[in-house]
Amino acid sequence: MVLLVTAGVFALLYLWFTLFPGRAVPGAGRYFTTDQVERGREYQRGLRLVSTGSFLVQAFFLAWLVFGGRAAVLSTWALELTGSYWGGVLLFFFVLWLALRVLNLPFRIFSSYCWQRRWGFSTQTFRAWWIDYLKGAAIDLILSAAGAVLFFWVAARWPAAWWLAGAALFFVLYIFLVFIWPLVVAPLFNRFEPAADPAVVGMVRELAQKAGLPVEQVLVMDASRRTTRANAYFTGLGRTKRIVLYDTLLRNYPLEQVRAVVAHEMAHWCRGHVMRGLALGVMGSFVIWGLLFVALRGTIPVSAPYPPHAWAVVLLFATLGFFVSSPLQNFISRRMEEEADRVAVQLTGDAAAAVRLQVELAAKNLSDVSPPAFIRWFSYSHPPVLERIGVVRKAGKAT
Ligand SMILES: [Zn+2]
Repeated sequence: MVLLVTAGVFALLYLWFTLFPGRAVPGAGRYFTTDQVERGREYQRGLRLVSTGSFLVQAFFLAWLVFGGRAAVLSTWALELTGSYWGGVLLFFFVLWLALRVLNLPFRIFSSYCWQRRWGFSTQTFRAWWIDYLKGAAIDLILSAAGAVLFFWVAARWPAAWWLAGAALFFVLYIFLVFIWPLVVAPLFNRFEPAADPAVVGMVRELAQKAGLPVEQVLVMDASRRTTRANAYFTGLGRTKRIVLYDTLLRNYPLEQVRAVVAHEMAHWCRGHVMRGLALGVMGSFVIWGLLFVALRGTIPVSAPYPPHAWAVVLLFATLGFFVSSPLQNFISRRMEEEADRVAVQLTGDAAAAVRLQVELAAKNLSDVSPPAFIRWFSYSHPPVLERIGVVRKAGKAT
C-alpha cells in the first residue's frame, strides 16, 4: 500500500514536470543555441510521457489483477486446466507474460521505432525492428520463466526462509548472466570485429597503460545498423577486459573525443565502480527479497506451496519497487558518473576535448540541457550536461 501511494505520487509529479518543465537555465546559452535546447526538450518530453504511460498501464493492470481478485480466478483456472501444480504455475506465468507484453507493445513501438525515426536516430526498417523485438522477447521469455520456476521452487523448498535462498540463488544467476551476456546474447544482435584503425588501437593501449588496466581486445560494434547514437563500453569481469566501441562513435567523432569516451569508461573500472555496483546490487537484492517475503505474507496467506497467482504479486511488487527506488539507484549512479568524468580528465589531461565531447553528445543525442529538478532527481543516471561540463572544467584546472 505504501508502495502504491509513493509510486502514484512520483508518477504524478513526473507527469507534471514533463508537461510543465519551466524555463531552461540561463547558463545553457553558453554552449547551446535556443533551438537546440528546445529540440532536446521536445524529444525528451515524448520519451518521458511514454515511459510514465507504460509504467502506469502496467502497474494498474497488475494491481487490478491482484487486488480485484482476478489473479486468483486465473490461477484456479490454470491449475484445473493443466491438472498439475507446475503446469498451472507455467501456464499462469505464460498468460501473464503475454498480457504484459501486449499491453506494453504500443509504448515500445512508439518510443523505440516511431519517435526514433521522427527525430532521425533510427536507421532500421520496421521489419528489422520487429526481428529485434522478437529476439529480445524470446530471451526475456526464457529468463523470466527461469526466474519464475526458481521463485516457486525456492518458496516450496524453504517455506520459512525462501527469501534468503532466493536472494543467494539470484546472485549466482546474475553473475552467470554478466559472464554469458557479451559472449552469447550480444552477438545475437550485433557483429563485433577487432578495431582496424591503428590510431584507435594505439590510443586505447596508451590510456590502458596509464590507467593500469589490462585491455585484451579493442572491438568495434556495428551499432549503425540500428541507430546514429554513439557509445562505448567495457566487458569482462576477470583480469582481462575488452572494450567495445560503437562504429557510430568512430565515424562521427574526432579521435580526441573518442579518447575522452574511452577514458571515461576506463575510469569506471579504475575506481571499482563495476564491483561496487555489483556489491550494491547484491545487498539490494537481499532487501528486495526480504520485503517481497513480507509483502506476499500480507497478500496471500497460504505459503507452501504458493498458488500460481503469487507471480502476479511478485511482478506488481517488482514493478512498483523498481519505480519507487529509482531516485536512490540514480543518485548512486550519478555519483559514480561524476567521479568517472573527473578521473577521465586526469587520465587524458585534456579537459577541453572532454568539454567538446559533452557538448557534441548532448547536441547529437538531443539531451535535455536543463531538466526540471524533480526529473533530474528521479530519473537521471548521469548528471545533466551542464553539470558534467562543470565537473570536467574543474578537474581540468586541478591537473
Ligand atoms: Zn559512465
